[in-house]
Amino acid sequence: MEKLSNYINGSWTISQENNLVDVLNPATQEVLGKVPMGKATTADVELAVKSSQKAFISWSQVPVIQRIQPLFKLKQLLEENKEELARTITMECGKTLGESRGELQRAIENVETACATPMLMQSEFSENIAKGVDEFMIRQPLGVCACIAPFNFPGMIPFWFLPYAIACGNTFLLKPSEKVPLTMQKVMGLIEQIGLPEGVINMVHGGKETVDALLEHPDVKAISFVGSTEVARYIYAKGAANGKRVQAQGGAKNPVVVLPDADIDTTSRIITDSVFGCAGQRCLAASTIITVGDQKGGIKEALYEAAAKRITGYGLDENVEMGPVITQASKTRVQQLIEKGVSEGANVLLDGRNSAVSGFEKGNFLKPTILENLDLGGELIKTEIFGPVMSLVQMNTIDDALQFINGNNYGNMACLFTSSGAHARRFRNEANAGNIGINIGVAAPMAQFPFSGWKDSFFGDLHGQGRHAIEFFTQTKVTVERWLQDWTRKF
Ligand code: NAD
Repeated sequence: MEKLSNYINGSWTISQENNLVDVLNPATQEVLGKVPMGKATTADVELAVKSSQKAFISWSQVPVIQRIQPLFKLKQLLEENKEELARTITMECGKTLGESRGELQRAIENVETACATPMLMQSEFSENIAKGVDEFMIRQPLGVCACIAPFNFPGMIPFWFLPYAIACGNTFLLKPSEKVPLTMQKVMGLIEQIGLPEGVINMVHGGKETVDALLEHPDVKAISFVGSTEVARYIYAKGAANGKRVQAQGGAKNPVVVLPDADIDTTSRIITDSVFGCAGQRCLAASTIITVGDQKGGIKEALYEAAAKRITGYGLDENVEMGPVITQASKTRVQQLIEKGVSEGANVLLDGRNSAVSGFEKGNFLKPTILENLDLGGELIKTEIFGPVMSLVQMNTIDDALQFINGNNYGNMACLFTSSGAHARRFRNEANAGNIGINIGVAAPMAQFPFSGWKDSFFGDLHGQGRHAIEFFTQTKVTVERWLQDWTRKF
């Protein structure tokens, strides 16, 4: 198995790093590729930034309407190659084919939205703000913009940034997650065909050393990061200390509140899809399910039934509803967290530990787990599990639930299930989270809206996607001009 190449200045370039780490299929442990990781990737970063910086000089001067033309071609190629890309995502990341197709659709929608950049970048002009004086604001690109991506959406997350960055006139340098580098490797093969000048998009593989080189490089002007909170906090601090614009999306622990007036069938179906979809490895996965008041309809039983019948297996099988978690270490961590919950007094209603899948005995499989009676003062209630575990909690009132949500360190998403408009309206107003779902289990904003995490789920001001992306990838310049009529020669 050959080591993965970087894509620099329009060519596939061999990394200067010889330390190689296996990329494993989480269902089979088959080695899919070898990714360079180590100090020598710093030299790869140097090469890529040089190329990005050179390309920026001319790309930033290309009219915006021409800058978006390659995006139309990219949309077409992503659509034509969707099935192959979906299989690659499933093989390296473990999710089901349906989930892989879904994330690619979201990637394509971001490309489409970025095609509106000629309008989204339009500026403001005020005439005659003083006698003979006009004032206007324009948006100009920043320069080299780098993106550091996580493992859980290899085909989607780079697209929260990439199409907007280049449409605004920047150049873009991607470092994919070392756990899932193959999807963007394939996407770069498509990007090669869309007619972009050399160096407008570059890709460098690697890990921490590669990231640090990006954070320290004076020619990198902006960093878009998505990953765990610990690393997001580090990236934000180090990037800012080095004078960069940073948006850093972090982890999550998403509460979902079920009121007694919620429809049981749809609610239980939607919540189990949210908790167990992508094997719980979504930053918008529902985690703590808070049932409120006197639940006469049997929500607990309905959740149990929906979870217990979920088919776990290799995602390439179309019948499978839940794939493995990303690594053996991740599986062990989730099992230990379940044990931690038990040690804190939780009852295991449904136990998905040690659940091998026939034919895939080496896979990192866990089956759906449901814990109940969690200690609200314990550790597990606060910890992001990032695996297929539902925590059930009972509370007396919606006030208790809101207080619990607002005491949460994370603020990625909060959801409410109800048939009451008044409760929904109050929840939307009072819940301290950046993405709110009402009768929705995964409140993922569409491309036109910002992906609005709060608190420890986001460090920065401007989020990915839509108008926020346009603002993040441009800096404003205001010009004040005086032209008095008396100065003009009369004709
Ligand atoms: P991670 O933080 O381990 O890795 C993310 C990226 O950072 C990778 O490219 C990795 O190479 C790099 N990295 C890792 N450790 C580093 C270090 N010490 N210094 C510098 N760079 C480092 O995250 P992950 O495990 O790939 O992804 C899962 C996490 O991402 C979860 O916490 C999840 O909630 C979060 N996530 C958040 C969002 C969101 O929108 N808020 C979306 C997806 C995932």
